[in-house]
Amino acid sequence: MKNCRHLIFILGDQLDIDSAALADADAKQDIVLMAEVPHESTHVWSAKPRTAFFLSAMRHFAAVLEKKKFQVEYRTTGTHQFATLIDALADAVVQHKPQKIVLVTPGDYRVEQSLLAFAKTIKTPLVIRDDTHFMCSREDFAEWAKGYKQMRLEYFYRLMRRRYKVMMDGDEPLQGRWNFDSENRGAFPKTGPQNVPPTHAVKPDAITKAVFKDIEKNFADHPGTLTDFAWPVTRVDALVALQKFCDERLATFGEFQDAMWTNAPFLYHAHISAALNLKLLNPREVIAAAIAAFEDGRAPIEATEGFVRQVLGWREFIRGLYWLDMPGTREANYFQHTRKLPAWYWTGDTHMQCMKDSIGQTLQYGYAHHIQRLMITGIFGLMAEVSPKEIEDWYLAVYIDAVEWAELPNVAGMAIYANGGRFTTKPYIASGQYIKRMSNYCTGCRYKPDVKTGATACPVTTLYWNFLDKHEATLLRNPRTALMARNITKMSADDRQALRDHAAITLKNIDTL
Ligand SMILES: Cc1cc2nc3c(=O)[nH]c(=O)nc-3n(C[C@H](O)[C@H](O)[C@H](O)COP(=O)(O)OP(=O)(O)OC[C@H]3O[C@@H](n4cnc5c(N)ncnc54)[C@H](O)[C@@H]3O)c2cc1C
Ligand code: SF4
Repeated sequence: MKNCRHLIFILGDQLDIDSAALADADAKQDIVLMAEVPHESTHVWSAKPRTAFFLSAMRHFAAVLEKKKFQVEYRTTGTHQFATLIDALADAVVQHKPQKIVLVTPGDYRVEQSLLAFAKTIKTPLVIRDDTHFMCSREDFAEWAKGYKQMRLEYFYRLMRRRYKVMMDGDEPLQGRWNFDSENRGAFPKTGPQNVPPTHAVKPDAITKAVFKDIEKNFADHPGTLTDFAWPVTRVDALVALQKFCDERLATFGEFQDAMWTNAPFLYHAHISAALNLKLLNPREVIAAAIAAFEDGRAPIEATEGFVRQVLGWREFIRGLYWLDMPGTREANYFQHTRKLPAWYWTGDTHMQCMKDSIGQTLQYGYAHHIQRLMITGIFGLMAEVSPKEIEDWYLAVYIDAVEWAELPNVAGMAIYANGGRFTTKPYIASGQYIKRMSNYCTGCRYKPDVKTGATACPVTTLYWNFLDKHEATLLRNPRTALMARNITKMSADDRQALRDHAAITLKNIDTL
């Protein structure tokens, strides 16, 4: 083993050849370290599709680096004894005695803290560079946030549109509107979605197949399956996926952004969040591709703006908030909920069709779209009074795009209101009636979405009314929820008691719903 100049540590969500960590890299003097360590798949019970996405993308990226003549030290699952990233790094420091360790800001506070703690134990300087993949730096976001008592996406989004001159006409938004949200909430007609163009499916190559083997050997009992894994795990394939989305689905993305349908896991969404989060794609090129589609008439402004808002707005906003609010968000529990996550979140084995379908596709593909995550599995977790930590760990484990900076604010902030409304104006709750309106899940379900109590009562509806009952005073005080909360005040005392009794039974039997 030789001494090196820089030991460049590339983490699993930093697979970007233009990464700041590689900016001044010298293939002759530097060593690139990449490590697959069990702790990253076990600190939450990482589902097989998620682990496969990370490991396969990492191995493919290591091959790209090697092709560019970098000296890559790659620690493969099952071939070493290092349990954690720090164990692997510590060993490489001893072996190579680098002048510096160089890396880019990790995506998890947990990993950043462990690196900073490790740095205190060694003499070698540890240089953590800002992640230039993002369009708003942590410092920039913190500076922007100083000006506001309440964090609202809309203000941040307008700033980003102006800063990057995206869909602007001088200082004004193109066609005079910042937001086409109201045009983007359609449900499917009774016949359901028709002729949805397929997402870009990639046949697993030898590298991906080797990853599957390692997962089945080392994480056999983890949730999820690999049978249908066909995600793009290289930059080349991720670019094809992006192009196909812009050519074939973007035009319809806006209108049906919130709609859901049984056995239709992908619909008109982009399916690029994992490629973005692992940095196979850059947000600037994603936005440019969508705008090109708009400019040459492949997509209308409503859909294009809706999509740009997700990538330039929500994604950057969520990341800024994560770093601003950690570690507080991870501890937040506004409603003091302590119940366990229903066991069927890990299997999909429930009679509730909405949950069965959303969780089923999650375990099969590692994917569900935003409204499934928010309005199906998310609000149920809130209304079933599940401990935030349990539900946050589930979200971090099951989605192929789950990196904590993206997962935690969405779960704690948006889905379960654990942070008490840091960037939302109200807790998101809904009854089975909403799910009936936005999907066909209720057709064929043993429960009835409009029934609150009794054998056929929809658990979503029961728990929705129970939530209104329990939090009536708080919800009445908030102008955004007052109308909804007033409905519970109209219920007779007897009906209210029957609701409470049935809700108690529902919560007691939650694992068998
Ligand atoms: C409870 C909950 C948990 C979530 N966990 C994650 C997560 O772990 N990782 C993750 O990337 N996204 C997460 N999201 C956001 C969003 O659901 C996913 O980014 C999206 O479903 C990914 O699918 P897509 O690529 O088809 O997205 P599309 O619907 O096609 O949207 C386009 C892109 O916009 C970005 N985006 C949209 N909304 C958000 C958002 N709220 N936060 C961050 N980026 C956004 C994504 O990069 C996405 O690829 C979560 C949302 C909720 C409500
Ligand atoms: S009836 Fe209730 S549980 Fe069944 S699918 Fe509809 S919302 Fe879900």
